[in-house]
Amino acid sequence: KDAQDQMEEANQDSNKVNNSSRILVFVRLRPMAKKEKEAGSRCCIRIVNRKDIYLTEFASSGNDYLRLKRLRGRHFTFDAAFPDSTTQQEVYSKTTAELVEGVLQGRNGSVFCYGATGAGKTYTMLGTVENPGVMVLAIKDLFTMMRQRSYDGNHAVHLSYLEVYNETVRDLLSPGRPLVLREDKQVMSLLQQGNQNRTTEPTRVNETSSRSHAILQVVAEYQVRDSAMSVVNQVGKLSLIDLAGSERALATDQRTLRSIEGANINRSLLALSSCINALVEGKKHIPYRNSKLTQLLKDSLGGTCNTVMIANVSPSNLSFGETQNTLHWADRAKQIRTKQACEVNEERLQVPVLDLDQSKLLLELQKE
Ligand code: ADP
Ligand code: MG
Repeated sequence: KDAQDQMEEANQDSNKVNNSSRILVFVRLRPMAKKEKEAGSRCCIRIVNRKDIYLTEFASSGNDYLRLKRLRGRHFTFDAAFPDSTTQQEVYSKTTAELVEGVLQGRNGSVFCYGATGAGKTYTMLGTVENPGVMVLAIKDLFTMMRQRSYDGNHAVHLSYLEVYNETVRDLLSPGRPLVLREDKQVMSLLQQGNQNRTTEPTRVNETSSRSHAILQVVAEYQVRDSAMSVVNQVGKLSLIDLAGSERALATDQRTLRSIEGANINRSLLALSSCINALVEGKKHIPYRNSKLTQLLKDSLGGTCNTVMIANVSPSNLSFGETQNTLHWADRAKQIRTKQACEVNEERLQVPVLDLDQSKLLLELQKE
């Protein structure tokens, strides 16, 4: 334990020296589902010290037994691990609230939810009317703070909610142009509507949208007085991404890979993984152009963007393999180093410029 602490301290020091920081990685455990209970699940995850995760139990049948026995007691450490009792508000406060503060100061931020289908990504991001998730809480927070800080009471949030499905980009809200919101009412119903527009799983009726990535981009714009008391435009962008089920990425290695659809879903997820690997290794060339998802997120991953990953996992031993893969992926993501995001958007970009860029990019991506 001491050695690990020392290593972490050393890492933090080298961060300062290199003027880089790493992205923050969180894990959220969801409650056991009724179906899982009925199937006789046991919980295979233990959270200790709010940041350590142990995979403890294993299935007891056939080859799995040997494979899992070796993996017994796997240990991972993250920036925080949220037990199943964690509220939406807590998850938001610990993962995203700081990024929202950054966005208001002109620094871009992004939050990714990663995990297998059914692990709780959409619950974390969108949530329900009673328990709104990160997307809704972030927008509410943006409005509250802009109201307090804006010089002329004139502030707006530009929303676009996109889907990448089968390497096709679709607008889930309004074709072509970002929506302009002046207040946070209706955000939940707007996003729920958008979510219903997500492409549903064609083969398995019960599993909606497990193959589509949903990307909410929020540009916050307001006016403040700077230190010289002149009025300046403050612009920041927050990207909130509900990724496709990560189990598809695993299917590539197996003979089950048959459709172009599956391959394309994998293309975006695999491209994201390649970009993450390139970022981890400090490569100069990051292959953003390899998929629609990574093209859309070029300015939201790495660079000076503040990035947060939330890995969602089920507690059930029936999902042991998925959980283990998710935790490995998250562990890898922990190593991404980004430039310290102390720079604000240069030249205090006017929102229309950003929006135009976004619309242009969208058009291009839709054409390809
Ligand atoms: P995913 O988007 O990863 O496929 P969902 O977010 O749709 O998974 O979650 C699957 C089911 O589990 C949903 O019915 C959802 O309401 C429920 N669920 C997920 N996370 C939680 C949680 N933290 N608390 C309560 N229910 C949850
Ligand atoms: Mg989902």
